[in-house]
Amino acid sequence: MTTHAPQAAQSVTLPGTLDEAVAALAATPAAVPVAGGTDLMAAVNAGLLRPAALVGLGRVNEIRGWQYQDGHALLGAGLTHARMGRPDFAALIPALAASARAAGPPQIRNAGTLGGNIVTAAPSGDTLPVLAALDANVIIAGPGGARREVPVSHLLTGMEMLRGGELIGYVRVPLLHAPQVFLKATGRTGPGRAIASVALVLDPARRGVRCAIGAIAPMPLRPLDAEAWVGSLIDWDGARSLAPEALTAFGDYVAAACVPDQPPAEDGTEAPPLPPGVLHLRRTVAALARRALGRALS
Ligand SMILES: Cc1cc2nc3c(=O)[nH]c(=O)nc-3n(C[C@H](O)[C@H](O)[C@H](O)COP(=O)(O)OP(=O)(O)OC[C@H]3O[C@@H](n4cnc5c(N)ncnc54)[C@H](O)[C@@H]3O)c2cc1C
Repeated sequence: MTTHAPQAAQSVTLPGTLDEAVAALAATPAAVPVAGGTDLMAAVNAGLLRPAALVGLGRVNEIRGWQYQDGHALLGAGLTHARMGRPDFAALIPALAASARAAGPPQIRNAGTLGGNIVTAAPSGDTLPVLAALDANVIIAGPGGARREVPVSHLLTGMEMLRGGELIGYVRVPLLHAPQVFLKATGRTGPGRAIASVALVLDPARRGVRCAIGAIAPMPLRPLDAEAWVGSLIDWDGARSLAPEALTAFGDYVAAACVPDQPPAEDGTEAPPLPPGVLHLRRTVAALARRALGRALS
């Protein structure tokens, strides 16, 4: 189906399947895919983007739900934040549900999608640290029914890019059946963009803790040394609890890795102290990481 929306784009195509959507992009290379439109239309309204044509993904039902597959959940890129925030989804992937519930006001959560959050790749994208901590992959649909799978972190760091005419179809997330936490600091009361966020997941099968810090850098940061250190402290076959001092030390370890001290000057003189704003950010990250680990282990 094609309609005409002259103010926004010359044509809007509304395919019914993922492969039809890919074909529509191939047929009109200047066309831009749109899911919930919360990021894309904001860019159009701000005069930053003037797409010649749009391919709407709202009728592609196959990417609006999820299914189980080999110990993983296969999440459709068209899942809305509102849908991911519901209790049945929260029972499956609690940290992703918590991040979806924290993503903007209700109107935004009703329209905004997982795939849009990934492709926009804003530092403040709430699902991104969760996907990084979970080591999630995206499944990309290309022309002729082609599918390729790449780690989300490769897309976010630019190691892999979406090629022309490709769409994110699904996100493959391991089901860990263990506590996971997402926490976000906004610097204000009520919904707002993150100034820092943390996603932390326990992976008992691998006896590991995985943690990603969002919003403070262009992509989520993984403090790998801090993860390995705290993972080695936990009695995975026992109580899985840590002393408050260990939680604090973990928070400080994560914060120092993600918000490091300035390097010494070239002439060897001592590095200046961190500016107050950066010091505040480091303390925020430390508090978020400490609390997230405490909640996951409680
Ligand atoms: C007022 C407001 C508050 C917000 N608050 C938050 C917040 O707190 N946290 C947060 O994380 N985000 C927030 N956002 C940002 C936005 O809502 C999310 O990034 C949302 O997930 C985007 O999804 P969408 O479906 O609306 O994307 P769209 O706007 O439809 O698309 C965004 C980009 O992704 C591309 N795209 C979409 N789907 C696909 C696909 N399947 N394959 C390939 N490309 C695709 C589009 O071409 C476009 O480039 C906010 C936005 C607004 C306007």
